[in-house]
Amino acid sequence: MKDKLHELGARAREEMAEAGSPEALDEIRIRFLGKKGELTRILRGMGGLSAEERPHVGKVANEIRAAIEKELTAKSAALKKLIKEQMLHNERIDVTLPGTAVWRGGRHPLNIVLEEIENIFLGLGYTIAEGPEIETDYYNFEALNLPKDHPARDMQDTFFISNEVLLRTQTSPVQVRTMEKTAPGLPVKIIAPGKVYRRDDDATHSPMFNQVEGLAVDHRITFSDLKGTLAYFAREMFGKKTKTRFRPSYFPFTEPSAEVDVSCVICGGKGCRVCSHTGWLEILGAGMVHPRVLEVSGYNSEDVTGFAFGMGIERITMLKYGIDDMRLLFENDLRFLQQF
Ligand SMILES: [Zn+2]
Repeated sequence: MKDKLHELGARAREEMAEAGSPEALDEIRIRFLGKKGELTRILRGMGGLSAEERPHVGKVANEIRAAIEKELTAKSAALKKLIKEQMLHNERIDVTLPGTAVWRGGRHPLNIVLEEIENIFLGLGYTIAEGPEIETDYYNFEALNLPKDHPARDMQDTFFISNEVLLRTQTSPVQVRTMEKTAPGLPVKIIAPGKVYRRDDDATHSPMFNQVEGLAVDHRITFSDLKGTLAYFAREMFGKKTKTRFRPSYFPFTEPSAEVDVSCVICGGKGCRVCSHTGWLEILGAGMVHPRVLEVSGYNSEDVTGFAFGMGIERITMLKYGIDDMRLLFENDLRFLQQF
């Protein structure tokens, strides 16, 4: 019986040495020492022993039980330590790895182009002027030589808030406001960028869009100053080889007036789909400030002259980057915006 007990102890030690997890150790504990375990089964046979033998066998059984329990505890502690070490090793943070890049955002193409336009004119000595987007009928129309019954008002589908208040349809009211403030001081040299509003909505029109308006007023300003200024602007904006062309046009607040074209930025003037095979692209309207506008704003039109021009920033942006739908500029789609 003692032999059986020793043999059991030896087997238990062997199995414990091979156990690789706390679960395996638990299983060994139940199989050898549990209520229905092997040790209990052997001890049940003690009834057949003599009174002298019984205490000896009982002592051996207790020693083996104690030895197995001790070994189980030690092995369990060692296993837990090993598992913890492996976990620490596997989950270690390598502080020398490069970090995750943070998306920093970027500038909107309209702002990139506006800043370019501003820089060109700042370099020519212009300053930047701003005015309200909610305007009065007077500044948006009347002071610009567009009285209430003027047919040219139909050229601009207007959002009226009341009979006298509207969302400005152009940045030109800033010209009048600036001249009123400056007159009779000279010179006036401003560009006025900002949002304007008209009731249009398709691939090339938006109910809200951005304009930049320019105004120069001084003694002896001539049409050739206007041509030189805009030709310089076109070359700076679209490249040194860009040509300009002036076509007669009509605006109520300038006289004479012109539409200004640049040689096509895509084909260089040979003709392509973008320029409808004409070789030219219309980019802005311009002209000499109408004498009545000068008078209304406080200047003597016998004494001073001026020129003005206005362009849509969306149109310039679309031409510069080859964008074919204006709505892309307002949809906030990152797949589009990330390209700039
Ligand atoms: Zn072309």
